Amino acid sequence: MQIYSENQRRLAKIIAEDATRSNWTDWKWHVRNSIKSIEGVERLLGIQFTGKERAALKNTTEKFPMAITPYYLSLIDPKDYRNDPVFMQAFPSTDELRIESHDMSDPLHEDEDSPVPGLTHRYPDRVLLHVSNTCAMYCRHCTRKRKVGDRDSIPSRDDLRQAIEYIRNTPQVRDVLLSGGDPFLLSDDMLDWLLTEISSIEHVEVVRIGTRTPVVLPYRITDDLVEMLKKHHPLWINTHFNHPAEITASSKQALAKLANAGIPLGNQSVLLAGVNDCPRLIKVLNHKLVRNRVRPYYLYQCDLSEGLTHFRTPIGKGIEILESLRGHTSGFSIPTYVVDAPGGGGKIPLMPNYIISWTANKVVLRNYEGVITTYHEPAHYEPTYCDRECSTCNLQLREADAEEKAIGIESLLADWDDAQSLTPEENERIGRRTDAA
Ligand SMILES: *Cc1c(COP(=O)(O)O)cnc(C)c1O
Repeated sequence: MQIYSENQRRLAKIIAEDATRSNWTDWKWHVRNSIKSIEGVERLLGIQFTGKERAALKNTTEKFPMAITPYYLSLIDPKDYRNDPVFMQAFPSTDELRIESHDMSDPLHEDEDSPVPGLTHRYPDRVLLHVSNTCAMYCRHCTRKRKVGDRDSIPSRDDLRQAIEYIRNTPQVRDVLLSGGDPFLLSDDMLDWLLTEISSIEHVEVVRIGTRTPVVLPYRITDDLVEMLKKHHPLWINTHFNHPAEITASSKQALAKLANAGIPLGNQSVLLAGVNDCPRLIKVLNHKLVRNRVRPYYLYQCDLSEGLTHFRTPIGKGIEILESLRGHTSGFSIPTYVVDAPGGGGKIPLMPNYIISWTANKVVLRNYEGVITTYHEPAHYEPTYCDRECSTCNLQLREADAEEKAIGIESLLADWDDAQSLTPEENERIGRRTDAA
């Protein structure tokens, strides 16, 4: 498919009679003309819902608003729209109003783990900064559905200063992840300012941006944007392709611009029932991504956010997909499959089991073909006892700043930490002990 295909020209003319190719490739035109009503979609796709369907859909968009860029809508096949992966990600389903008992509005506790507004500090050395409250397209599977359309505004520099101050005052933060909403809905100037502020903080080593614009609004990746981004290396970008149909001439061009600017690109997919829950489909998607210099980074299990029930697959589906990738295709085409732990525990990686059994000197392993093999542990291995004195260690790590404390399981394994066990906060046995004391 070329950029501004016959179908896209036709849609552009329905939206605005005098629309031109340069309107179509202008990202602001798409934001201005994003489709927000059920009737708008009916008109553009030439489809019709019954009065009852339309009323039910409107109930859904009252709770979870809709916005679709004309570009993203142009990828929908009107002949089979109900099964269309783009339609399913962009157009509301009345199933979104089905809230099950385990569903939560903020399953990842992003708002609770937030020391200042707009910033989530979950992991020791990195923070997530919500720099924009809006997106070009509202993904129906958004984990932050609670916020969509809530305060559809771009935060001011003052709103962001508090978060920047927090980063400045928190020396352990070495990685800052800009998310949103979509950071690329900010203006180039605002992004430039933000990236300059953040990279002026000495302890920040790397900045990442999470954006879906290469998928839903590829024209946002302008030459000017890329020239500006280039000044802020090391800058990493993660995007969000879920289906091979999203890889088009326009999105390829956007990815090429970013990659040519020397920005390492990653992709985060979400496993979605009826959209991409198929091993073969994910393999094709990942092959297309790597051909466009995008490294599959994460495959997410769908979160327990309200309104996503109908998108959820069993975790077994994810394991099945990973089983079909490892060994079967290039290692760099394989994302890490993760469940983002409800309650804010962070990402937990999952994969098939490859260790079959273990003795003191042998490990029995299996490969992707089902071959069962043994690995002999070394007969002589001198472990280096670690007392955290890197200056006297023979491994020659010449870094001044050895981390000071071990966290969680790491503390149980460390020579230099005397933690013996981790106990859940509400442990009855321990509770009885302190009662007796
Ligand atoms: C996903 C996430 C990160 C980044 O995690 P990585 O595994 O480093 O990509 C950081 N903070 C929060 C709150 C996150 O959800």
